[in-house]
Amino acid sequence: MAGLGVVKESEPGERRVAAVPAVVPRLTALGLDVLVEHDAGVGAFHPDSAYAEAGATCVDARTLDARVDIVWCVGPPPPERLRAGQVLLGLLSPDGSPELVAALAARGVTALSLDRLPRTLSRAQSMDALTSQANIAGYKAAVLAADTYGSYFPMLMTAAGTAKPTQVLVLGVGVAGLSAIGTARRLGAVVTGYDIRPETRDEVRSVGARFLELAVVAEGKGEGGYARALTDEERAAQQEALQERIGDFDVVITTAQVPGRRPPQLVTQEALKGMRPGSVVVDLAAGPLGGNVEGSVPDRTIVVADGVTVVGAGNLPAAMAPGASAAYARNVSALVAHLLREGVPAIDVADEIQAAVVVTHDGAIVNPTVRSALS
Ligand code: NAD
Repeated sequence: MAGLGVVKESEPGERRVAAVPAVVPRLTALGLDVLVEHDAGVGAFHPDSAYAEAGATCVDARTLDARVDIVWCVGPPPPERLRAGQVLLGLLSPDGSPELVAALAARGVTALSLDRLPRTLSRAQSMDALTSQANIAGYKAAVLAADTYGSYFPMLMTAAGTAKPTQVLVLGVGVAGLSAIGTARRLGAVVTGYDIRPETRDEVRSVGARFLELAVVAEGKGEGGYARALTDEERAAQQEALQERIGDFDVVITTAQVPGRRPPQLVTQEALKGMRPGSVVVDLAAGPLGGNVEGSVPDRTIVVADGVTVVGAGNLPAAMAPGASAAYARNVSALVAHLLREGVPAIDVADEIQAAVVVTHDGAIVNPTVRSALS
């Protein structure tokens, strides 16, 4: 019987856990022996006792590392915990982590990264952890914006007068952006969306929002449904065009990303100066390389210009750890079920899903996209 181990996350602030107790019976039914590192679930309010009741065994890190064939994580554990022949499943961000990928290959670990899943393949949709986590991040960004903004989102007529609805602009309308639009609309705001991929016009309108037309900005359809990086001239034109319009909005939520690149800067300091005092900007793309908003810092809220609050979002799925962990656990268990043959993982890079997600195997970096990104 193959052993599957759920590790305790090591990244500071990461409250998610890769498997929740509810998926344990499904894994044991697949013929797996499920081990969970002590306290792995506490950040998501799942005590060891809940895993034990579901049929897992809770053990210390050393026992888990020695006994399991499959290691299941959200973010990667330290590579020193892994040994040759083990299968690692998680969100490993391999394109941006050359040292990690090299260490996993050198240790003979078979690493599968869910961030490389082919997202338009219908049989892979139940495994799409990027989508489940981006949905949560977009929802949470809108809730955070409403919590930070000092007036009602909906139009309200009360005996104390009428409150106008808040005008919300969402920049970047992929999965997180559409989720933010839907949430802000459900809270009663008037919402406008903007993206450089032309197909997003209809997607924005179909969720009841307006589309912000910027005539001077080129369209930016890239590969695999993603955006392409704009040229320097296009980016400058976009920043200028946005700067003219951003002051019309009370709340701006930014979610723009280009795979393998630093996030495009959409909101400059000049644009922030053009916003009314009391306005709120939530930058979901804020990370170590910068974000969509000039000067935003992950996990920090700063007040700029004459009172514009800029929230650098950081790891929003971790702020909704129970919900995010449950969705993630279902995604990964679908991938595990796909990998197993007679209860053991069968690595086969001729399979379309595995060809995309298997990053290292048999001591080498086998994924050509990751190999070329790292070289
Ligand atoms: P993402 O996180 O890479 O980027 C978020 C958004 O930012 C994208 O919509 C992108 O176009 C936009 N963006 C990038 N540069 C920009 C700029 N300079 N200005 C404005 N916007 C900019 O994207 P994602 O949310 O992961 O989704 C990527 C694609 O994958 C989308 O086409 C989505 O529909 C598709 N997808 C399809 C499925 C499916 O078919 N089941 C599932 C998930 C995602």
